[in-house]
Amino acid sequence: MRARNGHNSRTSEPTFVSMDYRDLWRLLLLLSATALLGAALGHAMAALCGVLLLYVLWLHRQLRALLLWLRDSKAHEPPEPPGMFEEIAVEIDYLRERHKKRKKKLASYLKQFQQATRALPDATVVLDKDGAVMWANGAASRHLGIRWPEDLNQRITNLVRMPRLQEFVREHPASTIEIPSPTEQNRFLSVLLAPYGKDQWLFVARDVTQLHRINQMRSDFVANVSHELRTPTTVIRGFLESLLYQKHLAPPAWGPALEQMNSHAERMQSLIEELLLLSRLEQEDHVTNPQPVLVSELLSDVIKQARALSGAREHLFSLEAEPTLRINGNNNELFSAFSNLVFNAVNYTPPKGIIQISWYRDEQGAHLEVRDNGVGIDEEHIGRLTERFYRVDQARTRTEGGTGLGLAIVKHVLLRHGAQLDIKSKPGEGSVFRCDFPVSSIVTDLPGPAAELRLDHRG
Ligand code: ADP
Repeated sequence: MRARNGHNSRTSEPTFVSMDYRDLWRLLLLLSATALLGAALGHAMAALCGVLLLYVLWLHRQLRALLLWLRDSKAHEPPEPPGMFEEIAVEIDYLRERHKKRKKKLASYLKQFQQATRALPDATVVLDKDGAVMWANGAASRHLGIRWPEDLNQRITNLVRMPRLQEFVREHPASTIEIPSPTEQNRFLSVLLAPYGKDQWLFVARDVTQLHRINQMRSDFVANVSHELRTPTTVIRGFLESLLYQKHLAPPAWGPALEQMNSHAERMQSLIEELLLLSRLEQEDHVTNPQPVLVSELLSDVIKQARALSGAREHLFSLEAEPTLRINGNNNELFSAFSNLVFNAVNYTPPKGIIQISWYRDEQGAHLEVRDNGVGIDEEHIGRLTERFYRVDQARTRTEGGTGLGLAIVKHVLLRHGAQLDIKSKPGEGSVFRCDFPVSSIVTDLPGPAAELRLDHRG
């Protein structure tokens, strides 16, 4: 293409100082000459009008030529004659080429991205805000049965029919879930949803079959060992209790030894029971047949047992609970979790300490809070408290009769209910353990007692 008026080539940036005023000078010269000639002939106005009309026709012709040139995407030579229209054409041509180059670059980035995600072993699906498929890689067909491009605009929940997945896609939780592969038997996938672009979601499913198998083996091993130990421990405890109740059967010197053996056997028994419970809870990460649970009633029972545990330590209990607030879940599991929290409060709060329990709801969901003014926990331990056998103070826990499994059980029960445990504590001041249940677990349609349950229990 011609390089005029500061344009070195078609693709280089034009220099905008090169405005061409020759057209304007030419027009002014023509109008002046016409005015002079017209005045000499006595028809200055008519001459000027005639010339201006011709000029307008010429402009129209130039604009038309420019339009035709623009429509022809292959034409790079600007329309003749040189001048202002040629400059406009050069500018447009420059922008057009720049746009083409950008488009090419973007297309190549997109191709690279798609090649990379296609090579990923994880199923990757881009979803729009309604959960409809916008793009999927090859692994999505292997792991989830989603075919690209055939399944474009289909909702993922229609393609992979699993109630848990529906809930997951609807609620966009931050955590991952594990689901069985819909295409291959005995394969398990860990699924996560990440926000992506504008109102889009990246749905990634990773094959975790191996990890699942290892976890299953570990869990089976613990369950089997615990099961095998259960019967002998029960038998030993039975004999020890008989000997303790019928003291005349054993020599008097054996008394203290029998007491100690019995208390160790008792500890071992509760350890085995808790390990078995944990194994059962681990089998699945959700409650299989959830029922509406009236938590205020359940908490009253927990407090009764906590008062018995407190005994002579005379803790002061208070319960503030929304009486109609029910959640969908498993009554026994929730009882186990809540009683663990309240019993811990009893065990780690000095005599006559205050233990406040509240059950309420807000926009985030339903919450159970157990607050005590006991020994408290150092910040460094808080993140690890729900690990099995993790204890802040080994010696103290043993004297309190703890197994170190209580909070692990709480964590698993909450996980199965889609809830989370939040712990706040300060050494010497006390602790707050809060269970946060999602809005979706609240039962809304059941009637209940009208007044708020407010009880003060003195141990
Ligand atoms: P344990 O059976 O030993 O009580 P848990 O798993 O229930 O086991 O608790 C783990 C540890 O967390 C306990 O050993 C204790 O140190 C600490 N802990 C739990 N609850 C409280 C609490 N309310 N106040 C202070 N420390 C607590």
